[in-house]
Amino acid sequence: MDKQFEFSQDGKQPQNIQEGKNFIKADLGNINDLGAYAMENKELGIKSEGKIFLHSLLNLTGTEVSINTFPAGYEAPFKHSHKNNEELHIILKGEGVIEVDGEEVTIKEGSVMNIKPQGVRLIKNTSNKDLVVVIIQTAQNSLFGYTLTDAII
Ligand code: ZN
Repeated sequence: MDKQFEFSQDGKQPQNIQEGKNFIKADLGNINDLGAYAMENKELGIKSEGKIFLHSLLNLTGTEVSINTFPAGYEAPFKHSHKNNEELHIILKGEGVIEVDGEEVTIKEGSVMNIKPQGVRLIKNTSNKDLVVVIIQTAQNSLFGYTLTDAII
């Protein structure tokens, strides 16, 4: 079963994809237009509107990153937890609620929130405007060095 999502043909497409020996870059456009993207898995017949996954676009090897535009009143269709990945949520725009293990946590522009893999979560946009959230999935306890302990200067 192929679990990869691709950019849906009837949605917005990344522009100016540029590859070098040691980098890949793409332009996603204005933050207010990110809701026009959609990702789909044709094999499973799943289409997610307003979602951008960066793992395959940028050949990421240690994280999956999604940029999500949740429309007014949106509520995720199901609660979920993860096997191994913690999820860092960075709220760029809007406001809403993330329920974790039944506890409702208010989020808004500028909020950052990490959820451990075991946390059973559900995101809701309780406002009448778009909620834009970057979600970074990383295997828990996978980071060995960071910033000054990983940089070679
Ligand atoms: Zn998740």
